[in-house]
Amino acid sequence: MPTRPLIFDGHNDVLLQLHRAGGLAATDLFLSGRDGAIDAPRAAQGDFGGGFFAVYVPSPVDLEFKFEEMAKPSYDLPLPDPIDWEDAFPVVMAQAAILFDLEKRGALTVCRTAADIRTTLAANKIAAIFHIEGAEAIDAEFHTLDVLHQAGLRSLGPVWSRPTLFGHGVPFRYPSTPDIGPGLTDHGLRLVKKCDDLNILLDLSHLNEAGFWDVARHSTKPLVATHSNAHAICPHSRNLTDKQLSAIRESGGMVGLNFAVAFLRQDGRMLADVPLSQMMAHLDHLIEHLGEDHVGFGSDYDGAIVPEDLTSVADLPKLRHALEQHGYDSALISKLCHENWLRVLEKTWGE
Ligand code: ZN
Repeated sequence: MPTRPLIFDGHNDVLLQLHRAGGLAATDLFLSGRDGAIDAPRAAQGDFGGGFFAVYVPSPVDLEFKFEEMAKPSYDLPLPDPIDWEDAFPVVMAQAAILFDLEKRGALTVCRTAADIRTTLAANKIAAIFHIEGAEAIDAEFHTLDVLHQAGLRSLGPVWSRPTLFGHGVPFRYPSTPDIGPGLTDHGLRLVKKCDDLNILLDLSHLNEAGFWDVARHSTKPLVATHSNAHAICPHSRNLTDKQLSAIRESGGMVGLNFAVAFLRQDGRMLADVPLSQMMAHLDHLIEHLGEDHVGFGSDYDGAIVPEDLTSVADLPKLRHALEQHGYDSALISKLCHENWLRVLEKTWGE
């Protein structure tokens, strides 16, 4: 099974899981091995190069309940209530502290430039991007955003589906178009400008279609959906239509293929018996509509139910093998595994 090229991907939730497992006290688990998708031993085994490490403030809904509902043939999950800044900010600080503790302990490097990522991958270490999924901890004056950027924040999702000061996200519905509800607020449009000025990547993955087009109209940067799939193959509200894919291509942006089974399966069900050929079907479609330079991975590891053959980063050699078996050449496999992410980050961050 091929262990190269390194896979650098658009989304994981390991910081949330470590936060739930006890915060800083749980960083040992990352180093020694934990019951989950990403840790240091598994990363070494599967040649996982790192990626976007999401800081995410969970809603008080039961994940088990959510996944149970999404296993049904059709569903329309109510969005959780908005979270106040006062409640979100300490959680963001706590998860960011875990990220920096992992760096201090030599488990990964927090990268602020594309050159940082190249150097880190070349040294065979995990390269991490400090990303926040859902902007509840960002205030209307952007003081927190300025400080977080100084600390290393390089990527931000204005929403994780539930509404924020900045916009309305896409609910989890199957089958459904992503065109549900209003897009960004006036604060959201100001956030787009602010992120462009700071060279912070704006993640489109949890925006509804109106919000997507608001960013497309107002941002000068490549359009990026870090963990989303093709709506033409799985008609889920979280997936991207061909029209959205065209806009991403025109902007020079990219899409990271999400491993979450509900966004892969044609029937939209959160059930893990998904053959890797189903991922190849999405990749073929994304490559056809975006071009070879605009597709990568965005696993959602530690945040979703994933195909049973790819339960952790230790299984990534099976994914590389499937890419080869599918007939992709080595140049394309390198692009999918990390080169495209590096190209789009260079363009977005300006270095
Ligand atoms: Zn997500």
